[in-house]
Amino acid sequence: MTPGPTPVAPETQLAMAAPIIHHRAPQFMEILGEVREGLKYLFQTRQEVLIFAATGTGAMEGAVANTLSAGDQALVVDGGKFGERWTELCNVYGVKAGRLGVEWGRAVDPQAVAKMLDDNPAIKAVFVQANETSTGVQHPVKELADVTKNRPGTILVVDAISALGGYELPMDEWGVDVLVAGSQKAMMLPPGLAFAALSDKAWEFVKASTLPKYYFDFAKARKSQEKNQTPYTSPVSLILGLQEVLAKIRRDGLEKVFAHNRRLSEATKAAMKAMGLELYSKDYSSVVLTAAMAPAGVDGQKVVAELRKRGIWIAGGQAQAKGKIFRIAHMGYIDEVDLVGAIAGLEIVLNQLGYKVALGTGVQAANQVLGKEAAA
Ligand SMILES: *Cc1c(COP(=O)(O)O)cnc(C)c1O
Repeated sequence: MTPGPTPVAPETQLAMAAPIIHHRAPQFMEILGEVREGLKYLFQTRQEVLIFAATGTGAMEGAVANTLSAGDQALVVDGGKFGERWTELCNVYGVKAGRLGVEWGRAVDPQAVAKMLDDNPAIKAVFVQANETSTGVQHPVKELADVTKNRPGTILVVDAISALGGYELPMDEWGVDVLVAGSQKAMMLPPGLAFAALSDKAWEFVKASTLPKYYFDFAKARKSQEKNQTPYTSPVSLILGLQEVLAKIRRDGLEKVFAHNRRLSEATKAAMKAMGLELYSKDYSSVVLTAAMAPAGVDGQKVVAELRKRGIWIAGGQAQAKGKIFRIAHMGYIDEVDLVGAIAGLEIVLNQLGYKVALGTGVQAANQVLGKEAAA
């Protein structure tokens, strides 16, 4: 129950165990054709969703290198560990990134972004996370897109690596220009696939971009995918797993997948509240993970370590949040039993570390939420 890698369903594992098909064989091209359609459904876009053999960061790097040129100005929303990554990437490519710092645990105010764009119309791209995994906060992507969509000179680039497949992010409807995702979080696959989809406006930016790129050349990738190919060797086994996952998501429907995550999230948050634990995320608390404050006098890292001894894997805090928080992910192939088990383990561990909570307090609160919705 860490925010990536997340558990992979047995059906997906079996699909990936199939013999390797040659990536130029007609049989593989047919599979890629199906996968392309499934990805469009998941991204809620009519655009091509580019597939790369990389982790999500590869597609983040590609998003910078394909849409901008050296010396361009950008605005980075930085409210956590992953916000910082956009600035680092811009720096490497000579893009002048202005930073809109957001207190950890808070979401960005879209009006602050609008003001910065009004003050500096030369800003060509706004970079943000849909879900800032380090703090458990969802930034308001729809409202940010409302700010950028009528500005022809500015694109909105969204890192949805921990969000896509977890909750509603209709790219075309909202007017997101670049949406980046990765395989090992809410997409319920092993690490190793990165994705990016671009709006028509963003593809115009690609034409003008002069930054260097080779493997992550978006135009080349699109041209190849339109022929049901990838420019280089396809990560065949992962694509077979992706085919399985996408088929299941289409069978179930996005709404059902999102409702599952919402339900687990509400149960987890109810459990934290019942145990007297405060959430770290003060606004737009994430649907895909819960970041809770460790009680006074308890080291969040110890909570994580003690749970691990019991076979329960959650995550600690990063950088300035290290020791102060712990994070429980509940995205994708996680069920009620996993969740309730983790909460029961947490109760025991907290008692052991000196925070007194009656055993069953969190479990009961979680079960109340889970039971209620099952009956509905
Ligand atoms: C996990 C994560 C990343 C990094 O993804 P990698 O797959 O490790 O490259 C980037 N952004 C967010 C929001 C994440 O959750």
